[in-house]
Amino acid sequence: MKSTDKKSALAELERLYPEAKPALHYNTPYELLVAVVLSAQCTDARVNIVTAKLFEKYSTPEAMLALSQEELEKYIFSCGFYRMKARHILSASKDIIERFHGVVPQTVEELMSLDGVGKKTANVVYSVAFGGDAIAVDTHVFRVSNRLGLAKGKTPERVEEGLQKAVPKSDWSKAHHWLIYHGRRVCHSQKPDCLGCTLKAYCDYYRKK
Ligand code: SF4
Repeated sequence: MKSTDKKSALAELERLYPEAKPALHYNTPYELLVAVVLSAQCTDARVNIVTAKLFEKYSTPEAMLALSQEELEKYIFSCGFYRMKARHILSASKDIIERFHGVVPQTVEELMSLDGVGKKTANVVYSVAFGGDAIAVDTHVFRVSNRLGLAKGKTPERVEEGLQKAVPKSDWSKAHHWLIYHGRRVCHSQKPDCLGCTLKAYCDYYRKK
């Protein structure tokens, strides 16, 4: 994709999704962290149902640790991978209390030092909760970036590097949401709606088809 096309594609994404924002419900960085951990292999809508109940009583690391592994599993069962997610949430909560005085750390490196927190989760919390410059690469961002040719790569890390070059730093956080919206609404995994897509003039995948 030519650099002029990249600029045009980004401008079109911004025009399409001016309202783009996180779909996960949260009130604090800690709630966002828990919600993002739960969202792996699960829909945001399902996570919002689960956290609405969970956060009524357990919305801080201290409160969360009042739950046993089995008790937390019952709350988050419907999100899938519930044993691993419960273990990560409890372990990360313990870490936040013991190593960060009960406060969610504000750097990507420190966030990634928490159990169960990978680069994507750290980038989401860093950019969404703390306004940091990061582009989290989830499945939608990965797919749409590769198809468009905005950033190509076989791993999320390579796509993240490509996006950091293609997108002005001030738009990194917004671009993450634009690409997620486009992936959910138009550029579906199985059947992308290329004919109805206003980005097709710039899209590598469409050109090749
Ligand atoms: S033209 Fe097709 S493949 Fe390209 S971004 Fe649009 S929907 Fe996705």
